[in-house]
Amino acid sequence: MKLTLNYDELTNCMRCGFCQPSCPTFKETGLEAASPRGRIALMKAVVDGVMEPDDSFSRQMDLCLGCRACEPVCPADVKYGQLLEQTRDAIEDHAEHSWWVKGLRSLTFRHMFPHQKRMRLLGSGLRLYQRSGAAKLVRSAGVMKLFPETMRQMERILPEASGDGVVDRLGTFYPAKGTAVAKVGLFRGCIMDVLFTETNVNTAKLLAEAGFDVVIPDTQNCCGALHAHSGELDQARDLARRNIRAFREAGVDYIISNAGGCGALLVEYHHLLHEDPVMAEEARWFAERVKDITQVILERGHVPALTERLREGRPSGDQTETVITYQDSCHLRNVMKAGNAPRNLMSRIPGVRFRELQGADRCCGSAGIYNLVQPEMSMQVLDHKMEHVKETEAQYLLTSNPGCLLQMKLGIEREGLAGRMEAVHLVDFLYERMKPQPVGETEAALPGPGSTSAGQTAPRSEK
Ligand code: SF4
Ligand code: SF4
Repeated sequence: MKLTLNYDELTNCMRCGFCQPSCPTFKETGLEAASPRGRIALMKAVVDGVMEPDDSFSRQMDLCLGCRACEPVCPADVKYGQLLEQTRDAIEDHAEHSWWVKGLRSLTFRHMFPHQKRMRLLGSGLRLYQRSGAAKLVRSAGVMKLFPETMRQMERILPEASGDGVVDRLGTFYPAKGTAVAKVGLFRGCIMDVLFTETNVNTAKLLAEAGFDVVIPDTQNCCGALHAHSGELDQARDLARRNIRAFREAGVDYIISNAGGCGALLVEYHHLLHEDPVMAEEARWFAERVKDITQVILERGHVPALTERLREGRPSGDQTETVITYQDSCHLRNVMKAGNAPRNLMSRIPGVRFRELQGADRCCGSAGIYNLVQPEMSMQVLDHKMEHVKETEAQYLLTSNPGCLLQMKLGIEREGLAGRMEAVHLVDFLYERMKPQPVGETEAALPGPGSTSAGQTAPRSEK
């Protein structure tokens, strides 16, 4: 840890404690050691040689959700997320895993996630399992009882895998409707493309409706977030280099993410590769161009035209009002700083009443694979979240990250709200409510880009 951790960053923490109220694990436990200030103090104690990085130390680092809600509230601008990544990397370098954990980590991090074709194969296998009746058979035979409760619940709420990906559906180029305002590269993700293929397809189509030429480089791979958060920084760097090359060759103006968890690492590639003499500059080029889909639409897209399409998409004579609410993706809000853009777009959907979710900025407990490795704390955080979700009485619970989406589906299932409430990705909700522009029609007939005060409209909300 002495070699890995940034000591200046550790000493930046002035122990004010402003971060404590924003931390979900501190809220749940009340323990200083489970708070950002406490964890930074523990890291510094190890680096100073005052304490050993023993099991209790590792447990506190593992218990951290990595949600980074402690960063925007910190007056000293302590880069907690980077300290956590560096700590986990150092711990992992010396971890003594059992043979099966080693095997599982190697299979996941080295042999599956970095290879999109293998991920697609996994998707095809999952699809076969779900469609062939094997899933029902496994459940009725009680096989799932061998697994922990969270995994059993997860298995039930998993969306149907498509067995293909966005490139299989649309090719590597999807043209703008009308004159293009910019050329964007769609970051398709690994899990995202296997389990939420339709959302990726809708993302490309929504971007095209907003006036963007969409390129989907087929040589891109997993963003590396799972690796970076699990102490596998070298592998995360390799993945980053491959992605930078793929999008650099595509010559795009922006790199667009529809998953807060991926976007937050993409936007920090320059930090990940700052010591790489060959790629540091390229990484900065890449990071400067990363945006969430909602940000790029509001900043550069044909917003009035899109709003018009949303208005036309509403069936005539429909006077009903749909109540929606929104759970922030922590990384989209705290790292990509895009908390307002999704709310701005939601405010433009006709026939929709937006109710702000109390504590929407607090992590839902998904946090990558946290809900699988720390199920107890994850479910504690989720159950508290769902108390506020119920208060909104919303019909749709929208979010912008696949992990959050699955966790929200799990929360709905656990609370018995299925049938009354549905968790949906914001992109799908927007695209499905639009009347797409017919091919051949240009934006000239519609209000042009830039004629909106992007990012400034407050959503029609109820507390
Ligand atoms: S808010 Fe920042 S400076 Fe204050 S205790 Fe937390 S991390 Fe340290
Ligand atoms: S990343 Fe989240 S869980 Fe971890 S210390 Fe910061 S606020 Fe707490």
